[in-house]
Amino acid sequence: MSEVCPGCGESRLVEVFARDSSRASGRKSRCKVCDRARARAFYVANRERVLERAAAKRGRARSPVSSSCSECGVALEGRQRVTCGSSRCRDARFRRLHPESYAARERAKVERRKAARRQPREDASRIL
Ligand SMILES: [Zn+2]
Ligand SMILES: [Zn+2]
Repeated sequence: MSEVCPGCGESRLVEVFARDSSRASGRKSRCKVCDRARARAFYVANRERVLERAAAKRGRARSPVSSSCSECGVALEGRQRVTCGSSRCRDARFRRLHPESYAARERAKVERRKAARRQPREDASRIL
């Protein structure tokens, strides 16, 4: 049994067409020679992207076991995931990732402190 490959126009044995269960014929429409040539062409044309994706895949596979505090680098254990859990490191991470919300939070803190400092004096003046 042979089939004509639309890629190269050659009449080839069906064995030369790679298996593809997603197709009704059970074989790819192009012969292996054309398949390989196409994969090669794709790689050449998208070399950067292909390599990048492969590197990303490797990086993702490794990341779950990486376990040191992102701020101070101390080794993590148990349910600690990103920082060692100290408020200093949590703050540092928050400031790094959300500089604007951090600034807003710091401003609110300062306001609260100012208000708290003002409050007792007002009370005192009222008593007097
Ligand atoms: Zn072909
Ligand atoms: Zn830390």
